[in-house]
Amino acid sequence: MKFSQIYAPTLRETPAEAEVVSHQLMLRAGMIRKAAGGIYTYLPLAWRVLKKIEHIVREEMDAQGGQELLMPIVQPAEMWQESGRWAVYGDEMFRLTDRHDRNFCLGPTHEEMITTLVRSDVRSYRQLPILLYQIQNKYRDEIRPRFGLMRGREFIMKDLYSFDKDEDGLNISYKKMYDAYTNVFSRCKLKFRPVEADSGAIGGSGSHEFMVLAESGEAEIVYCTSCDYAANVEKAELLPLDEISTGEKLPLTQVHTPNCKSIADVAKLLHIDKQQTIKSIAFETDQGPVLALVRGDHEVNEIKVLNKLNLINITMASEKSIIDDYQSVPGFIGPCGLPKKIKIIADVNVMKMINAAAGANIADYHLQNVNPGRDFAADIIADIRLIQENDPCPHCAMPVKKARGIEVGQVFKLFTKYSSALKATYLDENGKEKPMVMGCYGIGVSRTMAAAIEQNYDEHGIIWPVPIAPYQVVVIPVNSKDTNQVQLAELVCRQLNLHGIDSVWDDRNERAGVKFKDADLIGYPLKITIGPKSISEQTVEVKERKTGQIHFFSTSDYLENIIELLQKL
Ligand SMILES: [Zn+2]
Repeated sequence: MKFSQIYAPTLRETPAEAEVVSHQLMLRAGMIRKAAGGIYTYLPLAWRVLKKIEHIVREEMDAQGGQELLMPIVQPAEMWQESGRWAVYGDEMFRLTDRHDRNFCLGPTHEEMITTLVRSDVRSYRQLPILLYQIQNKYRDEIRPRFGLMRGREFIMKDLYSFDKDEDGLNISYKKMYDAYTNVFSRCKLKFRPVEADSGAIGGSGSHEFMVLAESGEAEIVYCTSCDYAANVEKAELLPLDEISTGEKLPLTQVHTPNCKSIADVAKLLHIDKQQTIKSIAFETDQGPVLALVRGDHEVNEIKVLNKLNLINITMASEKSIIDDYQSVPGFIGPCGLPKKIKIIADVNVMKMINAAAGANIADYHLQNVNPGRDFAADIIADIRLIQENDPCPHCAMPVKKARGIEVGQVFKLFTKYSSALKATYLDENGKEKPMVMGCYGIGVSRTMAAAIEQNYDEHGIIWPVPIAPYQVVVIPVNSKDTNQVQLAELVCRQLNLHGIDSVWDDRNERAGVKFKDADLIGYPLKITIGPKSISEQTVEVKERKTGQIHFFSTSDYLENIIELLQKL
């Protein structure tokens, strides 16, 4: 392939609208162009990457018994009304009406569509399990689409749905997909971690997210330094800590703490450690005010509070709400002597404290020698704190570390949520009607491409992992006016392609520097330079994009050497 024939308009300057590296580099490398906010055209180089990722995904889905189909993008409102999600999906759903005023949406996901399909055709336990998947565009009308392909309004997803007769079957399907996802991201040569994810009220091991590790990742994860435990910080469960305070419980006293609105201020004034104070966080929820308590050196995990109390929504209480709903004072709220009965959820570690300090619900006052149980009662005692670096791993107690990641896949046990709502039932061995037990499994295909760049780049451009590179090798004749060099470059490129190595040669009448710069920007894993020595000494120079390492191979055996090199990369 000649580079001049590829529609890849590279840019010298970084476009101002691009905030993240993958967005900047894909625009500069001539891979994508914006059509509207969060909606992009994939140019030929990007499309080659996407097809390679899709190919790996297909092979791994098929290997686990998945069958590919293609469902419509345009979905009738009726099936969403039946599941109850038409009303709750909100503004993220792209909605439209046809000429007969019938309502439709552009599919943000396909649970309704697939469940409606399967319920009409599957009657017996003998037809189960079924694993169906598709790869196609999804639509979400993000309020502020940004970060290029990382958070678009139109994006490519692989979504697979499993239908089983019982939970044992679901567990098998789930394990198959977990393994398939591990294979997919390993084959893409990405550094990733499957992490335990929050699965809402379902709890347990109902969901894993697959995270590509990258500094720019939106998600924060923790992983164990000793075993293979890893989790989203929101999900990470914690072992109760050792008790830190001992001694006799002293009488409760009120102390004047003017302007001490933070834990740090109070600890400093009272000459105590932060871990001897109780942090009280006021929330507004659909169940009314909720006061959450953690030790002063800890943070509250809102998601845990939400799940433990089965809440639908939770936000930090405003100052007005602390005054009106709690009848307390912002900055001085605490669990003792609240003028009004407020639901209190306390972290397990709070209940073990002795002679702690807490807000007195009076302006400029705190209480000392607060003893949980004696001085206040908690309605719920649970693990509600946010995991911190060096906390003990919940599996082996060794310290955990934090990292950032980009979520590229999620596996999720749906159980009978959709099959019950949409009446997707089957007859079991005894002729009894039962809802099918479902799972759903997504991979963001276009997001994986962006995440691969976020993980693999330098100041010169993209560094593609070999299996998903648009071309694995670029061949560059140094002097485009030297016929010998040009002919050799073309020959080398043709030979590589004949041996199954995707290659392109840069036939443009440009200075060598320009061609080298574009090669680094586009990020081919290997660059072969054809110069005067290639003709006089019959050697080619091969440079690895990732390490900068240079190899010289003879024109007689370069092919074997390059095949070997690509396998090692
Ligand atoms: Zn561990």
